[in-house]
Amino acid sequence: MPLGGGTDLLVAMKEERARPETLVDLRRIPGARDITLNDDGSARIGCAVRLADLVEHEGIASRYASLAQAAAAVGTPQLRVMGTIGGNLAQRPRCWYFRSGLPCVKNGGSDCLAAKGENHYHALFTPGPCHAVHPSDPLVALTVLEASVEITGAAGTRLLTLSALFDGAAHNVQGEMTLGAGEFISAVLLPATAAGGNQFYEKLMQRGAWDFATVSLAAHRRTDDAVRIALGGVSLGPYRVNTSVEEDVATGGLDDDSIDALSERAMYDAQPLEHNGYKVWQAQALMKRAMRRLDAR
Ligand SMILES: Cc1cc2nc3c(=O)[nH]c(=O)nc-3n(C[C@H](O)[C@H](O)[C@H](O)COP(=O)(O)OP(=O)(O)OC[C@H]3O[C@@H](n4cnc5c(N)ncnc54)[C@H](O)[C@@H]3O)c2cc1C
Repeated sequence: MPLGGGTDLLVAMKEERARPETLVDLRRIPGARDITLNDDGSARIGCAVRLADLVEHEGIASRYASLAQAAAAVGTPQLRVMGTIGGNLAQRPRCWYFRSGLPCVKNGGSDCLAAKGENHYHALFTPGPCHAVHPSDPLVALTVLEASVEITGAAGTRLLTLSALFDGAAHNVQGEMTLGAGEFISAVLLPATAAGGNQFYEKLMQRGAWDFATVSLAAHRRTDDAVRIALGGVSLGPYRVNTSVEEDVATGGLDDDSIDALSERAMYDAQPLEHNGYKVWQAQALMKRAMRRLDAR
């Protein structure tokens, strides 16, 4: 198995949820810890770049503020110093049924135990039988920035969009990603359109600090005025809001009524479970705030 900072994998090994025969330390690959900013606004972030590096790197903070803010929102300083961007994207869901080894679909059972159980922190938009959410903050920022990932394996290198990377959630219930055997994320690639504009990340948590998002939001008004909005804590992969909502926000001149209507439209397809309906309200509150910030340019 690929090893990044080990902050998730070593815990999984201690709890015997992961039993790798061999660990491959990706941090030793030449260039894996490099951040390369290109003149056109695009960038390449090696898979072993630490979350703390993304927070502290001046070029990342000034060009891709939403990513720096999302990396800063991860857990604790210790996690950010050890955790890598590749490992953060590849970390496993935090669902308590899955992590406790109970016979849920991810652990080989026939049903998602959260669907009719303790589902306070589970998904509003569910692509497959599992109702867990992806725990990553950076994934939400990378979604609005329309990042892609470079995948490396024995056969060479290929590029995937984030939605293609996490398409596995719908088809392969045992994992979340569409990686083949021996493949790993070797880099995260940001397109030129990701740089600058008005971009930010906001995170709601049950506790004030050191917690996963109940719901989070990243937003980007690009320099060409296009708008991208993504939500975290609502799906097992990246979740971008309806493009018709983004287009209406991009048009601008929004009053309170249209902001209310747009935030409701964005959540139209949400399917709350018994205990997580509050997430719809949280998402709408974050979206209303974001729309005002984006409208102000
Ligand atoms: C208490 C606690 C609080 C946390 N809070 C947050 C939070 O608020 N927000 C948040 O986003 N995260 C949070 N996390 C998760 C933390 O950010 C992840 O554990 C960390 O980012 C994983 O990175 P890593 O490099 O340590 O991965 P590792 O533990 O090394 O690996 C994790 C998994 O990814 C695989 N992997 C690693 N690198 C790659 C790669 N390049 N390609 C493919 N697969 C790979 C490994 O095989 C393993 O399955 C928290 C974790 C803990 C323990």
